[in-house]
Amino acid sequence: MKITAIRPYPVWVGVRNQLIVKVETDEGIFGWGESGLSGREKAVVGAIEHYREFLIGRDPFLVGAIWQEMYRSQYFEGGRVLQAAISAIDIALHDIKGKALGVPVYQLLGGKQRERIPTFATTSAPPSEEMIEQAKDLIEAGWTAVRLSPSDHEGSTVYEPREHIATTAKWCVKAREVLGDNVVLGIDFHHRLSVAEAASFCQKMPSGTLDFLEEPIRDESPAAYETLRKLTDIPFAIGEEFSSKWQFLPYIERDIHQFNRIDICNVGGLTEAMKVAGWSEAHYVDMMPHNPLGPICTAATVHFAAAVPNFAWLETRSSTVEQLGFDNDEIFPVQPRIERAHYPVTDAPGLGVVVNEELIERESFKFWEPPHLKRNDGSVTNW
Ligand SMILES: [Mg+2]
Repeated sequence: MKITAIRPYPVWVGVRNQLIVKVETDEGIFGWGESGLSGREKAVVGAIEHYREFLIGRDPFLVGAIWQEMYRSQYFEGGRVLQAAISAIDIALHDIKGKALGVPVYQLLGGKQRERIPTFATTSAPPSEEMIEQAKDLIEAGWTAVRLSPSDHEGSTVYEPREHIATTAKWCVKAREVLGDNVVLGIDFHHRLSVAEAASFCQKMPSGTLDFLEEPIRDESPAAYETLRKLTDIPFAIGEEFSSKWQFLPYIERDIHQFNRIDICNVGGLTEAMKVAGWSEAHYVDMMPHNPLGPICTAATVHFAAAVPNFAWLETRSSTVEQLGFDNDEIFPVQPRIERAHYPVTDAPGLGVVVNEELIERESFKFWEPPHLKRNDGSVTNW
């Protein structure tokens, strides 16, 4: 079998672009992949076009060797743009191999270790009674792990951390009181805080209020995270922005974080994700994958989640309180569907996703910018 075409489709679905990639072969079998670098998709399309130049004619079964060649064939290797491109192609190659062998992708990853994949869902209302009501709705619908929403910039372009952390902490404490001790509660700060701000946030709550704190600070400095580790006892859930096993290296080896927010569409696809999972297993760190993209990302992550022993929850953005439209039924008529807070593990060959190609050929790309947030004094801060 030979690769005959690689087609990137950057298309607007729901509230953002998805970069879907189709890899075709001379035997009529094709695979779908998705790239996860939100907001700079055109750069990833360019990287995919470079890889296409030498991948046409290659055997798509040589998934590991192709990964090495994509990673190591340039001066210099790595980085988030290139790894997002590699991720999409790697996922599509797994889809092709599964379809060609007549097996679901999890069979290529060591086989199934669970029948269904537990998920966590996120409240959408800002910290308030409404947020707690949403959490109650989620628990009623079967979720045992809920990510609460922090106080946010809410449509403004100003985000001043100290104006949000006290309110957010107060409502987290209230949520724990109302929702009880059994539910898993966490929160995601979208790496908007400094070490001191994150420490203040944590210290405003009694121990046991939160079960995980996601991305309190940016990831460039593992040493900064180690400092924060000493200032709070809340487990950290981080890693969605990591684009290779080497970015996970200091965090895993120094036991800095407790949940691994790996993103299969950014880290380097299933090939790289399985290596990170094995390494995390050795450190008793559970996988808690990032999954805010489309159904191809969800399907790839479901197969990954089925095949690894060390697993906590898969993120879902499709719940009773949140529907973002990434899973458009017309574009993806066959895709993973939530059943009482779990994704079933399906047995269709490959990823088990059907894409309406005529429709995505008609869909357009939209240039979109995330909010460019500033502090009250006019200085730039993180979205
Ligand atoms: Mg996050």
